[in-house]
Amino acid sequence: MINLMPFVLGPLENNSFLLVDENSGESMVVDPSFDAEPILTTIQERRLSVKAILLTHAHFDHIAGIPYLAAFLPQPLTIGLSSGDAAIYSNSGGAERYGFHIGELPKITLPLFHKQLLSLGTETIEVREVPGHTPGHVLFYVPSLQSALCGDLIFYRSVGRTDLPGGDFNTLVHSIRTQVFSLPPETILYPGHGPSTTVADEMSQNPFLT
Ligand SMILES: [Zn+2]
Repeated sequence: MINLMPFVLGPLENNSFLLVDENSGESMVVDPSFDAEPILTTIQERRLSVKAILLTHAHFDHIAGIPYLAAFLPQPLTIGLSSGDAAIYSNSGGAERYGFHIGELPKITLPLFHKQLLSLGTETIEVREVPGHTPGHVLFYVPSLQSALCGDLIFYRSVGRTDLPGGDFNTLVHSIRTQVFSLPPETILYPGHGPSTTVADEMSQNPFLT
């Protein structure tokens, strides 16, 4: 079975995650932000192998921990991102514009695409393309946990900003309606910032979507 471990990291209080298959000791890191030491410590203390670092999108606060993790984890490191966000990634996620420096990023080696199924131990993670916040934004749906890691697509009672390069509000709302609201209503949504929520709650109470 998969265990989901959340970490709140960095100056923008990002939700970063470690997905652990308890049987095999395989893990995946999702959206590692600044100050990723607690993730590395958990990996090392529990002697986990890291199958991949998965990115919902390439904004700097969701990728800032990659150079740190890459310095300590066995190589080569598998980095998963949609090709739609490759340009943002190669621009360090816009870090310089906000006065941050995040170091050299490894190449993307796992191009993510819609309906792709990733395996972690014997469990499956489904990739869904959800553009709008960025052109190549994806979410990771973990059926066995009845959970989805949504990045900056949807938040508790709010939605992702669409005023950054490549953002589009109508596209974002369409992504939520087709790819999030089609998940089972009890599905727990873990955003990139702030508290978790559920599909049913946001369908009925999100002021941007009701
Ligand atoms: Zn973002």
